[in-house]
Amino acid sequence: MAAIWIDGKNLAAKIKEWVRAEGAALVRRPGLAVIIVGEDPASRVYVNSKRRDCEECGFYSEEYALPDSVVQGELLELIGELNSRTDIDGILVQLPLPKRLNEGEILLAIDPSKDVDCFHPVNVGKLTIGQPVFQPCTPGGVMEMLEEYHIDPAGKRCVVLGRSNIVGKPMALLLLHAHGTVTVCHSKTPDLAAIAAEADILVSAVGKTGLVTADMVKDGAVVIDVAMNRNSEGKLCGDVCFAQVAEKASYITPVPGGVGPMTRAMLMKNTLTAAKLHQGL
Ligand code: NAP
Repeated sequence: MAAIWIDGKNLAAKIKEWVRAEGAALVRRPGLAVIIVGEDPASRVYVNSKRRDCEECGFYSEEYALPDSVVQGELLELIGELNSRTDIDGILVQLPLPKRLNEGEILLAIDPSKDVDCFHPVNVGKLTIGQPVFQPCTPGGVMEMLEEYHIDPAGKRCVVLGRSNIVGKPMALLLLHAHGTVTVCHSKTPDLAAIAAEADILVSAVGKTGLVTADMVKDGAVVIDVAMNRNSEGKLCGDVCFAQVAEKASYITPVPGGVGPMTRAMLMKNTLTAAKLHQGL
């Protein structure tokens, strides 16, 4: 059986269209400020695409491209200014930051009501107790995909590969809140292949090309590939050996065109949520 491809590109476009319509109905259009430090080419690509997404959604956007030499105090001062601005609903600091900066302190400085990445401990806490203000963008995007394809995690065995704060942990929480039975695997998990093979819904967020082979996938499983790796030819790919796994899975996300566009759409949705919040809606 060949799996159905979950089309993240198409769903992301639908979400952005909805966000644009909702945003246009507000008294003041949503505003997003993006801060980028240094010249990392991958970060630059992400920031450019966020600017395009804002244009598509009719949002106001500002970009702060700071030199690699910026000091902690300057960054905190900028965040403080953006926190007090009424035309800015969301503040996003593009990660990773240079190692010498204290990332934790910087994320903590963002007003939780403007934390559209959902990284602030207040928002992580609210997410943990099942009262989220914002959906963490990548895992939230995965949940939207499951819903769109009528895949209900309730009662299913869900296995998440990876336990990062950005993807693995919040992914596990969202699946748990959706009543899945969730196992999280990481680099110290023995016999990862056997655990993965029990999954009805398998989410891979590790960042290792070729990690998930067909023998690690149960017949008819739903396979979500979050990873964005480069293969030996420099082409974008995920963790999953797509061709062989697609023969066994019932649903599968391609890379590119799967989770990636959904992450971007969820950022727009969160900025809209923040704008509504700031406008008392
Ligand atoms: P990360 O912070 O590096 O975390 C990777 C996780 O994988 C860690 O928990 C690590 O375990 C685990 N791991 C490493 N090697 C493993 C192995 N051999 N077996 C099992 N687990 C292993 O990465 P991340 O930020 O979560 O991102 C993961 C991937 O998703 C990357 O490819 C990234 O580019 C991609 N990503 C995509 C999107 C999107 O929009 N599609 C968004 C964010 C990230 P330990 O905790 O034990 O070290």
